[in-house]
Amino acid sequence: VTDTEQHLRQAVIDTALAMNAQGINQGKSGNVSVRLASAEGEPRFLITPTAIAYDRLRAQDIVAMHGMTPTQPAPRPSSEWRFHLDIYRARPEVAAVVHTHAAFATSLACLARGIPAFHYMVAMAGGNDIRCAPYATFGTQTLSDYALAALAGRQACLLAQHGMIAVGRSLSAALALAVEVEALARMYWQALQIGEPKILPDEEMARVLEKMADYRG
Ligand SMILES: [Zn+2]
Repeated sequence: VTDTEQHLRQAVIDTALAMNAQGINQGKSGNVSVRLASAEGEPRFLITPTAIAYDRLRAQDIVAMHGMTPTQPAPRPSSEWRFHLDIYRARPEVAAVVHTHAAFATSLACLARGIPAFHYMVAMAGGNDIRCAPYATFGTQTLSDYALAALAGRQACLLAQHGMIAVGRSLSAALALAVEVEALARMYWQALQIGEPKILPDEEMARVLEKMADYRG
């Protein structure tokens, strides 16, 4: 185990604790992963284990995966390792994945509703909407396929009757986006209580996306 990997193991734990502390997840649901360097072939990544409360996690409990294979006998990786792997396979720019059962995002997802451009910050997820992937049983290849499709050209998506996924170039970026998506889901949900929110036109969202790209440099 290299210094970098040791550091990343702790960073995965800190991110998992932070998503519960920031109110975007609860209990043992949700999971976090980060990509490890790999020369070529299947992605290597660290992921939270299944069935251990985040506040009891030790660095050695974080599971190192090489493709579909855990590189240690126990504990077992999160049951959702499949979509983490498929995201790293399909999206070379993604270095971290945060999956939560955030209450407002999941409430919309229970209605199979994504988040349209009711607010310009929806562009933070990479486009003019945040899609909702259709329902499939947790841990299945079908769920992973649906999630990958909903994430096309985006950094976040909702999962019907389940939760949300946010990805990024770092653990902190993925976590920050997950917090933003939950805030947007809450605002959208609140706005829906008193009327039908106005949706920004595509040309305005294109302008916002361009400006955001400028600010990121
Ligand atoms: Zn889940």
